[in-house]
Amino acid sequence: MKSEYFFCPHCRSKLQKSAAAFVMGEVKYGIALGERTPTVTCPACGKAIDSKAMIEGKYDNTGGWTEILGCFAWIGGTGYLMIAHELGFWTALGISTGVLIVLGLAEHAWSRKSARP
Ligand SMILES: [Zn+2]
Repeated sequence: MKSEYFFCPHCRSKLQKSAAAFVMGEVKYGIALGERTPTVTCPACGKAIDSKAMIEGKYDNTGGWTEILGCFAWIGGTGYLMIAHELGFWTALGISTGVLIVLGLAEHAWSRKSARP
């Protein structure tokens, strides 16, 4: 199941895929469209976005690296709290999860703010 939303590769605005594009994505975009690359215009920055890549889900999230780093921070943070503060596993896990949620919300708020100049 692909995401209903995608992120503009230029300005990182969270955008909703159009119903038509969403349906096309579900049928794997099997139709040849000739040489012309179909694009959609980003409503936030006005730049063209490759609709084929959008449909294929290439812009569905802000990038795998953020998630991988977040995962490492989560595991590392839990380990650090357990060792440095002599906390139990679940306590440390609870704290690191809480911190990650707060950071995630802050990042989300920041990216929304920066998307609207
Ligand atoms: Zn944009």
